[in-house]
Amino acid sequence: MRDPRYDILFEPVRIGPVTAKNRFYQVPHCNGGGYRDQSAAAEMRRVKSEGGWGVIFTEQVEIHHTSEITPFIELRIWDEDDMPGLARMADAIHSNGALAGIELAYSGANGPNLYTREVPLAPSHLPILTFTSDPVQARAMDKQDIRNLRHWHKLAYRRARRAGYDILCLYGAHGFGVIQHFLSPRTNQRTDEYGGSLENRARLLKELISDARDEVGDTCAIAVRLSLDEMAGPTGFTNAELRDLVAMHAELPDLWDFAHGTWEACSGTSRFKPEGAQEDLIRGIKQLTPKPVVGVGRFTSADMMVRQVKQGILDFVGAARPSIADPFLPKKIDENRIEDIRECIGCNICVTGDMTMSLSRCTQNSSFMEEWRKGWHPERMPAKKTDTRVLVIGAGPAGLSAAHRVGLRGYEVALAEAGTELGGRVARECRLPGLSAWGRVRDYRAGQIAKMTNVNVYRDSRLTAEDVLGFGFEHVAVATGATWRRDGIARYNLLPIAISPAMPVFSPDDIMDGKRPSGHVVVYDDDHYYMGSVLAELLVQAGCRVTFLTPAARAAEWSFNTLEQGLIQARLIESGIDVRTNRGLAAIAAGGVTAACSYTGRESEIACDAVVLVTARLPEDGLYLDLTARAAEWADHGLRSVKLVGDANAPAAIAWATYAGHRYAEELDAPDRGDALPFRREVATLKD
Ligand code: ADP
Ligand code: SF4
Repeated sequence: MRDPRYDILFEPVRIGPVTAKNRFYQVPHCNGGGYRDQSAAAEMRRVKSEGGWGVIFTEQVEIHHTSEITPFIELRIWDEDDMPGLARMADAIHSNGALAGIELAYSGANGPNLYTREVPLAPSHLPILTFTSDPVQARAMDKQDIRNLRHWHKLAYRRARRAGYDILCLYGAHGFGVIQHFLSPRTNQRTDEYGGSLENRARLLKELISDARDEVGDTCAIAVRLSLDEMAGPTGFTNAELRDLVAMHAELPDLWDFAHGTWEACSGTSRFKPEGAQEDLIRGIKQLTPKPVVGVGRFTSADMMVRQVKQGILDFVGAARPSIADPFLPKKIDENRIEDIRECIGCNICVTGDMTMSLSRCTQNSSFMEEWRKGWHPERMPAKKTDTRVLVIGAGPAGLSAAHRVGLRGYEVALAEAGTELGGRVARECRLPGLSAWGRVRDYRAGQIAKMTNVNVYRDSRLTAEDVLGFGFEHVAVATGATWRRDGIARYNLLPIAISPAMPVFSPDDIMDGKRPSGHVVVYDDDHYYMGSVLAELLVQAGCRVTFLTPAARAAEWSFNTLEQGLIQARLIESGIDVRTNRGLAAIAAGGVTAACSYTGRESEIACDAVVLVTARLPEDGLYLDLTARAAEWADHGLRSVKLVGDANAPAAIAWATYAGHRYAEELDAPDRGDALPFRREVATLKD
């Protein structure tokens, strides 16, 4: 069944003493669960094994209590207490023949040790280099500390092997991990045999790998994960030095795994980074070593994967986000079901789960991290329990997800959309600068629905309560979306502000409808995610002079969690936009706006020709309210349930809407759980 063009992706590849069944390599990725939600993370990896990955890794696993990255929640291999969870993960990974990899991390200058309260250790005396600017410094390791560090690694190697892992990977990428801190001349200012020349800076890596061989012999492969470039200019660990390192120690590890640079660069969003973005940095490195090479690039195109392997750029196709969005990516390529691939849209909502220490979610794969908690599966749905029919109203991400998933259950589904095109907000937003990949949310679902004989789509069908009652469906999902507010209400202003009718005021909906302000435009962003900055970019492209006003300290401040904030602010500045932070919007007058300092309330005037309000949204729940007002008539029309789904219920990011649609389908015929939690969880066992 497989297209022979893709055969090369399914060749087995040797990694030292072990062999991967194919070239699909799920690189380590966080999931916001870590040590807190271990069974949830294990089951997530099991589903990937089912989906055909050849190698599946854990997230980073902290090897010793003297280095941890609280508040972020990863895994740990500190003592026997950690073993059952790690073993469960390895078993899950093995369930369908994948090799289990464990990423061993000693965070060094990146571990503030807020939980263990140990003094952090690093190559040199340095402040802790975290996202959170913790008021902590690391102490420069002395020789005894380095001996201890080697000993702690040995304990971790033994435990990792005992827990069942096949590949032990030392983490030194993304600016995280003591290995990178030793390799980089910026963080290693030592004058002993561990500092100075590249050979000296690589000494620790060499010692740790030879210790690993002594400990595990040929029972496990030893890999190393490094950044292709520290992205710190010539004073950092550059791509040229990395190539020198690989040439110098070509046979040292059993596998070289290369990440892009910083985490922000490696996990770049589609707004800022195309697929395969690290190609120039990695090309030619494979020729320096006989050992297999892994690289990443948000790969979802089988053709690009094949090309990179055939051109000798990669041996393994590394993937984190594409494996999250579609755990069955390898299987779908193997079975020649390319059109069924649920492509990652590069939004980094998954990353926000880690950054907010919650549980990761995925815009495209709503079952991600719900595999164990709720028993959800990315490909399968439970069979329908009744012969009832379902009407889904609105074909945005929520309605499309609901219709697709209810259809998978075997129910008869009608999907009614007021407009002529499917996709709701994603159809509109994917036309904005940098967001074209977001259209994949629609494309995947619309494509799947088109193949289902039990799901019928009706466009140009704006339904009223009268229509709905007349149709006689037993279940109705109202997924009618939301619209942007025009009264200034969001976080800074909880009440409407004074707006002069003489000033042209636009909402994001107006701009997406094609209306354009002109002259000097104030874009007021009290939403704090992507919309404000994207519209500012669009208006600059349209020839406007733009002032970006926000009550937050940084532009698009929530996008810190998607690793985009710095890039967004830089792009605004580079586009010539006047970025004014810490300024709330107090009023809109005929000739300009009144801004107020977020701290002092001191007011200032900004003259302008138009204002774009990127504030809160209001659910479009009129149809739902009309239906509930006529609840007494439902039984006569055979109607049993009406549910609000997605933005029509409460506006949020797209991932919330796809999740709501999926949840609607899962719970359509579920018994009422009363006061029971709607998910499983694990609570720490109490000790004496
Ligand atoms: P969500 O993110 O919750 O899916 P969207 O705003 O993206 O919400 O999509 C809502 C969709 O619902 C839009 O495509 C809109 O045209 C459609 N819609 C709104 N009201 C009606 C209605 N009364 N009948 C049919 N479709 C509707
Ligand atoms: Fe891709 Fe977005 Fe899903 Fe992350 S959340 S895997 S970036 S679609």
